[in-house]
Amino acid sequence: MQDARLRVALYHRGHLLQSFLMTADVGIEGSAPTFVLEFSRSQRLTNLDDLGPRALSIAVNESPRAGHNLMIKTAGGALEVPFNANMVDKTVAATRTLLKDMKNVLPGPSKQTVPDPPRPTTDKALLDWWRKLAAHGQTAYRDLMAITGRSQEGLLDAITRSDDQVVQIARLDPGFVYPWPLLYDWVVPARDVGQLPPDVCFGDPDADGRRRCTHGKGADVICVYGFWAIRHQLDQVLTLGAARDPVRPVPQEPGAPQVRLAVGVSDKWTTELQTALAGVGNVGDLDVTDTATLIEALWRPEWRAPTIAVVAHHVDRDLAGEPPGSRLKLGNGSVFLSWERIADALQLKLSWTAPNSVVLLMACESGQATTARLDDFATLLTRAGAGAVVATELDIGTDLAARCARDVTTDLLDGATFGAALLRFHRRLAHVGNPFGFSFCWIGDAGLEVAHAG
Ligand SMILES: [Zn+2]
Repeated sequence: MQDARLRVALYHRGHLLQSFLMTADVGIEGSAPTFVLEFSRSQRLTNLDDLGPRALSIAVNESPRAGHNLMIKTAGGALEVPFNANMVDKTVAATRTLLKDMKNVLPGPSKQTVPDPPRPTTDKALLDWWRKLAAHGQTAYRDLMAITGRSQEGLLDAITRSDDQVVQIARLDPGFVYPWPLLYDWVVPARDVGQLPPDVCFGDPDADGRRRCTHGKGADVICVYGFWAIRHQLDQVLTLGAARDPVRPVPQEPGAPQVRLAVGVSDKWTTELQTALAGVGNVGDLDVTDTATLIEALWRPEWRAPTIAVVAHHVDRDLAGEPPGSRLKLGNGSVFLSWERIADALQLKLSWTAPNSVVLLMACESGQATTARLDDFATLLTRAGAGAVVATELDIGTDLAARCARDVTTDLLDGATFGAALLRFHRRLAHVGNPFGFSFCWIGDAGLEVAHAG
């Protein structure tokens, strides 16, 4: 038996709104075709004004033959192409190895810190690492280019030539990952063996998240602006099984906390984080003594705030008396935010109602983590109803964890969209030569905003 498939995608200003899949059995008399809504950003198409334009939309579907299909749409055209599963797996595995090695090759003075390099950045190992990241990002981008074919060469060109646009990545197959933030779509300058390597441009360290260098795709340097996560906002959204409009988290009441802070590490950086956040908003602490109460609290709307920041040790080795698998250790080491318990709650409880918080899951060096990945948490919490989730691809120092929580929360409370806040965070790190911005992963609508109380 064979089936025929037809996919229908509905866009508004380049933003994928809905995708339908029609399947028909070929050669079977009397069988009716099925028509399924796979993905929706807009339940009744009444919120179109909330859905900002997307300069590029890439939607990833499962494909019965090739592993995955990509639906690519820009102002220049649209196409659907297969993306070979082996090629994707190879790139994803190489990316994980590269990011993991980054911590080993560029260690801070202690395991807890990933300090900014001294200015000007002349450290050879660090410069070589940026060259390596660009080469890897270019290969991943060329693989993407190769499948679009010669007739579609101009399709991605507008993205290569522009900055500060929003690129939509819609995971219609939630399990599909690709190193989108690391894609490097500018030319890596060629050098013969024995020649000096190309210079690395970090932009302007005083630009506070704004772009100031003038490099473009053919520059004779490696420039941090060649990376997608540093040049553009990346909107990363999932199919959630049911139509759900994008969420806009709002504080419940004037005077209620704007941030819920859960800290499982006590050191100078988390103390600084508490002080910094107290300066920008009303901060409520996590005040629970056991895991069950923590899960209860997360599912109680009056407990949640527009942003929830968790800075904690990450553990994934099974230990007696603790939940199995990947978990963040909070309180005095007796409270766990674990993958298992969130999955349980998803089975037993309804999804979150408003406020659909932005959750920042910042995991620190535990010395015990091996292979667990926090992006699983991001998917689970998104299913629970989180408006957006930022997590980490690898364990990082408390300094960087606290910095991400502080920067993203501050910018969100200051009125920046989720996409703009993340872009500024990536740029601030890149401008001082710190490559650890690539340790972070996220799911969420780039246009999501925190509404102000009162
Ligand atoms: Zn530059």
